[in-house]
This record gives sequence, structure tokens and C-alpha cells, in this order.
Amino acid sequence: MNEMEEEVNFAIKKRHEREMEELYRRSMFESILEARRTQERSWHTEERERQKEKNKEILSGAPETEVPQKKMLCIFWRKGTCDLKEDCAFSHTL
Ligand SMILES: [Zn+2]
Repeated sequence: MNEMEEEVNFAIKKRHEREMEELYRRSMFESILEARRTQERSWHTEERERQKEKNKEILSGAPETEVPQKKMLCIFWRKGTCDLKEDCAFSHTL
């Protein structure tokens, strides 16, 4: 292998390494995002269930408990993907 070939091979190897690194970084980022989305989705569902229970208590005439205010903004609503409307435990107003 002459010097020229060696240099070319070295360059190809370096580029390949960079590409692999980039791919790795991107896949890490994607999986973090996906994990976050899953987490947010489950929080949203949990909160919705809590809200339902609370509503049931109130409707069944249980001692008046403070109706929780919808303070936190619904991230799904912001993205236009919340279909819970009134049932959503999160705020749908900015
Ligand atoms: Zn919502």
C-alpha cells in the first residue's frame, strides 16, 4: 500500500467513524424523546383517571372537596392532539 492509498483509507475510516458517531447520537436522542413522550402520555392518563375519580366523589355527594383547578397546561392540547376536551385534567387555555 503506498502513501496515497494509506491516506485515502485513513480518510474513509475517519469519515465512517464520524457517521457512526452521528447515527449513535441521533438514535440516543430519538430514544430519549420517545421515553419522554411515553412518560408524558402516562402522566396524562394518570391525571385523567384521578380527575374522573374526583368527579365521581363529588357527584356521589361525598363531603365537598376542593375541586382542583386546572393549572397545568395540557401539552397534548398545545400540540392539537388532546381529544379529552372537558374530561382533560389539564388546562386547555393559555
Ligand atoms: Zn388535554
